[in-house]
Amino acid sequence: MSKKAIILLSGGLDSTTVLAIAKSQGYECYAMTINYQQRHSSEIEAAKKIANLYSAKDFKIVDINLSWLKSSALTNKEINIPENAPTGIPVTYVPARNTIMMTLALAWAETINSQDIFIGVNSIDYSGYPDCRPEYIESFQKMANLATKAAIEGNKIKIHAPLIKLTKAEIIHEGIKNKVDYAMTISCYQASENGLACGKCDSCRLRKDGFKSANIKDPTKYKI
Ligand SMILES: [Zn+2]
Repeated sequence: MSKKAIILLSGGLDSTTVLAIAKSQGYECYAMTINYQQRHSSEIEAAKKIANLYSAKDFKIVDINLSWLKSSALTNKEINIPENAPTGIPVTYVPARNTIMMTLALAWAETINSQDIFIGVNSIDYSGYPDCRPEYIESFQKMANLATKAAIEGNKIKIHAPLIKLTKAEIIHEGIKNKVDYAMTISCYQASENGLACGKCDSCRLRKDGFKSANIKDPTKYKI
């Protein structure tokens, strides 16, 4: 029997690549998408299609309304999404977002007897969020192994962050090797309801630059 893994799937480029990697490593994939009332909700539709394409064993959309976190441009529509490369941690940072998401993934993992959680964080071509760094992932894993009944009984949890030290171009190469159709993915912080990217936000910029340096033959087929 193959091992079960929880994959945090946003519907974006990175998490879709991670799903493909987990699948290629022989895991039975349980995809989890968090609907936190983010302004780019078309990602959730993309995640649904992607989970289906990769025949996830189960797919869960967890609704958790974070729109009361007024300091982030992703949860407060009154704050404009910056359209220039940011200095410092940008206003798109959602307080404790990865900790919230990983905690939900951890709870599901423990429920279905999975010891493996995959997340598409990256600390190279990224927006500078503190919860995307390797030391954060290591600490979360330590916490997970202190906090759960499963771990105390010997079923240790492993947090997999296979993209954490890759450039965006390397991530794209990894995805294409695993036959990811990036046209299905949405990375934009303010994508329209039908999934059109703005082309201006930090996430769009990272995606565009990534494809440029990845030197893909026909990037237009990936809606770049
Ligand atoms: Zn955008």
